[in-house]
Amino acid sequence: NKQVILKDYVSGFPKESDMLITTSSVDLKLPEGSNGILVKNLYLSCDPYMRNRMAKPLRPSYVDSFQPGSPMTGFGVSEVIDSRNQNFSKGDLVWGRTGWEEYSVIDSLESLFKIQHTDLPLSYYTGILGMPGLTAYAGFYEICAPKKGETVFVSAASGAVGQLVGQFAKLMGCYVVGSAGSKEKVDLLKSKFGFDEAFNYKEEADLDAALKRYFPDGIDIYFENVGGKMLDAVLTNMRLHGRISVCGMISQYNLDHPEGVHNLFNLISKRIRIEGFLVFDYYHLYDKFLEMVIPQIKQGKIVYVEDIARGLESGPEALVGLFSGRNVGKQLIAVDPQ
Ligand code: NDP
Repeated sequence: NKQVILKDYVSGFPKESDMLITTSSVDLKLPEGSNGILVKNLYLSCDPYMRNRMAKPLRPSYVDSFQPGSPMTGFGVSEVIDSRNQNFSKGDLVWGRTGWEEYSVIDSLESLFKIQHTDLPLSYYTGILGMPGLTAYAGFYEICAPKKGETVFVSAASGAVGQLVGQFAKLMGCYVVGSAGSKEKVDLLKSKFGFDEAFNYKEEADLDAALKRYFPDGIDIYFENVGGKMLDAVLTNMRLHGRISVCGMISQYNLDHPEGVHNLFNLISKRIRIEGFLVFDYYHLYDKFLEMVIPQIKQGKIVYVEDIARGLESGPEALVGLFSGRNVGKQLIAVDPQ
């Protein structure tokens, strides 16, 4: 059983060498006493929150840190090959938490979803039909309460979550601008995902001026994925009664001390609603979300770009690449190198 092991707790930017690939012998049977399932992992998801799990557990967090010396875990798509649980049978396809390895025993089955729709790519259950998709859906519709005609800004806009938020906002009849870190991504935002405008934040010396260029009358909704300087610049450009859905702050994840935000007083003067959320609180919306999104995918009204690394060995490089923007679209790993 090939596995990806975290060598030791990470500080600063994660590196490929923080992880190790090992092979252990595997008995393709559930161990004595397990009431769970044995799965073959097909796709593994690379997600920014995994950086928090690579760190020493210093403060209370909504997720546990990985155990150095043990295989990492994360979201994935898997096939059940043995089951001692009445709700799962051999041959079932599932998505949810699994190990970064070829085969895993899963004992906690509460947040494991059985895949019902198999006429779409299975890899989509690491992205658009999985955790990032539900994040975009809940974060945009539930937290931002969007209305037709409003102005929407999305950061990390070409990523797993951002590309969907932009498309949801366009379907809603909003004016949508995205920021991303390369020309290729900016082109993708406009040509593939239908954003009205997009810019490369790395080429903007003055983020405030960039936002004023695209939002001369201000921003109604900001879908926050990056934090730091971008959040600060956005605050001064928000409109009265604007809403900010705080999904993530990836620019801060590798810093020992978060960068200061200076413009917070705008929350008061402009009566802005800023709200953090965790996708785990919205799992009850999953069926409703699928009902909405699957027809849109089938009709070609929503598209999804994936960045698929082949083979478990490519996992560390793919995961680390999230923090330099190496990925174009949803980063995942196909466990089988073919
Ligand atoms: P992405 O697919 O967008 O990958 C991460 C991207 O972040 C990179 O490609 C890069 O794009 C950008 N990035 C990396 N470092 C920086 C930086 N220093 N400043 C600005 N941008 C940076 O990831 P996801 O779509 O999976 O996640 C997006 C955000 O959503 C993350 O903050 C994540 O933590 C959060 N999230 C929150 C959830 C919740 O429940 N609240 C659930 C899922 C995700 P670029 O080239 O454009 O810089």
